Amino acid sequence: MGGASLSILSPSKPIPDPDGEDLQNPSEALLQAGTKNPISSAKPPTNAILFTFILLTTSVAIAASMAFAFLFFSSSSSSQSPPPSIPSIPLHLATRPLTRLNKPVVILISSDGFRFGYQFKTPTPNIARLIANGTEAETGLIPVFPTLTFPNHYSIATGLYTPFHGIINNRFVDPASGEVFTMRSHEPKWWLGEPIWVTVANHGLRAATYFWPGSEVKKGNWSCPSNFCQNYNNSVPFEERVDTILQYFDLPISEIPVFMTLYFEDPDYQGHQVGPDDPAITEAVGRIDRMIGRLIQGLEKRGMFEDVTIMLLGDHGMVGTCDKKLIFLEDLAPWIKLPSDWVMTITPVLSIRPPSGVSPSHVVDKMNEGLSSGKVGNGKNLRVFLKEDLPERLHYKASNRIPPIIGLLEEGFKVEQTRSNEQECGGAHGYDNAFFSMRSIFIAHGPQFARGRKVPSFENVEIYNLVTSILKIKGAPTNGTASFPNSILLQS
Ligand SMILES: [Zn+2]
Repeated sequence: MGGASLSILSPSKPIPDPDGEDLQNPSEALLQAGTKNPISSAKPPTNAILFTFILLTTSVAIAASMAFAFLFFSSSSSSQSPPPSIPSIPLHLATRPLTRLNKPVVILISSDGFRFGYQFKTPTPNIARLIANGTEAETGLIPVFPTLTFPNHYSIATGLYTPFHGIINNRFVDPASGEVFTMRSHEPKWWLGEPIWVTVANHGLRAATYFWPGSEVKKGNWSCPSNFCQNYNNSVPFEERVDTILQYFDLPISEIPVFMTLYFEDPDYQGHQVGPDDPAITEAVGRIDRMIGRLIQGLEKRGMFEDVTIMLLGDHGMVGTCDKKLIFLEDLAPWIKLPSDWVMTITPVLSIRPPSGVSPSHVVDKMNEGLSSGKVGNGKNLRVFLKEDLPERLHYKASNRIPPIIGLLEEGFKVEQTRSNEQECGGAHGYDNAFFSMRSIFIAHGPQFARGRKVPSFENVEIYNLVTSILKIKGAPTNGTASFPNSILLQS
């Protein structure tokens, strides 16, 4: 279990246990907008100031009425997740002009398992610089359920909830074919939806991926080209990853990829081993900050830092787990026997597929009867559902890859099949995405992000549309909110 996403992503290591854990021509508009930026235009004449004042006053009134209309319509919307209510951007702020580049470039960085709040564990001057001069989700980025590495990275990349992009767990069985998906499966049939690097390639633009779940899968015009698509290898030093990204900025400007990913296994790796409240986490967070510093300094040296959009985020959080918070499936035997081959994944996402002939609803009823009897240790901390009865907000039913029975655990609890003598205290994730501990960070710095702005938390399915908006390309349909990019990005 402690192997985390690092061991799971590794092509050279064995398949993990199921309980293991394991991102044309936009430049013209942008440049034009930049030259008209009222901040940068020097000393306008008096009548221009007056005109600007009238324009701003009128715009404020229009914006206020639009905001009201937005709130009105959003409050009357359906059972879908309500669009996040983002405070409007001051109207004097517009997209900042590019100086060195002639096109928007986005670097999407994932720090695996970077739980929201880790940035306060230790001085993180480089992350703090991005926050101070950029836009931050004030209380973190909300992962999708299940809060696991592969489902979330692919939701970030596609803007889709897991049933729609197909990666419903780090490991699952296709019930139709019996084939097993693992974190080393690169066949396109598993990976549904359109990840951002495919969208970029389909627009005739260049993307570069330095690790990201799904990036090695050939789809659309994306062929995972060897010079711009790194095959996963957890032994590559973080410094080398950053330096490779920096080298792309030494290419002729027309050849610089417009979208790049950068992935770090930390601090997820440490989080699994020791839990979120250990000096090893503090150390790992400090190291991630130094990598961000290395990237910033490299871009500054090339005169491109202010032109590039950096989005720093994580896939999920982390919570401490100890063996005193265990629920054993064997304890349910008086109500129902659960053979291990019915159990597709055990913790933190318990998923069960009984054989044909055994009614899933019967299994659910018997399991919940036992769990609520008071006779099963920690039983009240596990609730079992038919997947169609799961809360809508989890968006976890519309795929036959999802087993018919899903158990939701209270924060920090674990399920095991049988008792063992193993004793451990570590960390886990995968729990309900409503738990604050499962949240990660969202920090964005670049020409289209206001400086020092805080926005409310939002779900990571909004990221895809943010990237396509910045790149000014038409994206594929997503589960994101159509109005979201306009609410968070500076307007050109
Ligand atoms: Zn993990």
